Amino acid sequence: DDGGEGGEEYLFKVVIIGDSAVGKSNLLSRYARNEFNPHSKATIGVEFQTQSMEIDGKEVKAQIWDTAGQERFRAVTSAYYRGAVGALVVYDITRRTTFDSVSRWLQELDMHSDTTVARILVGNKYDLENIREVPVEEGKALAEEQGLFFMETSALDSTNVKTAFEIVIKEIYCNVS
Ligand code: GDP
Ligand code: MG
Repeated sequence: DDGGEGGEEYLFKVVIIGDSAVGKSNLLSRYARNEFNPHSKATIGVEFQTQSMEIDGKEVKAQIWDTAGQERFRAVTSAYYRGAVGALVVYDITRRTTFDSVSRWLQELDMHSDTTVARILVGNKYDLENIREVPVEEGKALAEEQGLFFMETSALDSTNVKTAFEIVIKEIYCNVS
């Protein structure tokens, strides 16, 4: 059912990328189910979660994909990226190496996408401020340079998680409508 007059349906594929253990799976479980797992292992089973939001009175669904831990082997497949119109590129503010990987992830995303992809750079684990290695200014500067939105989040205490996903979903909606 399309909701009748003027009813349009939107379904957008969004991918989450970034180094291993930056918190990708927990960002998704926090957003989609309001759950956090302190001992999460590599994702098993579920490939994506679907989450709805309303924009301009329309129901917009995002099908958000999580890696099954393949990023450890630098072998995220092209099927993972296929059809994606949005991406969260995640690093861990307490590990600089994960920030250094961001440009490689952006390149991979570019290589696999043939449309405009709404992208946000996400510095996760904001709750671990005391052991931060990447200053917020550096995250902001990289995002600006690469033309990405930017947000620091905590999947642990929920800070900015919903906002980060919704920024991407709204931007996709703007890109297509
Ligand atoms: P992924 O490999 O990128 O999917 O990362 P996971 O979601 O599996 O998280 C890796 C580890 O970091 C797990 O032990 C999580 O509990 C932890 N973690 C994830 N997000 C946060 C966060 O925002 N804050 C803190 N303190 N730990 C987090
Ligand atoms: Mg994971």
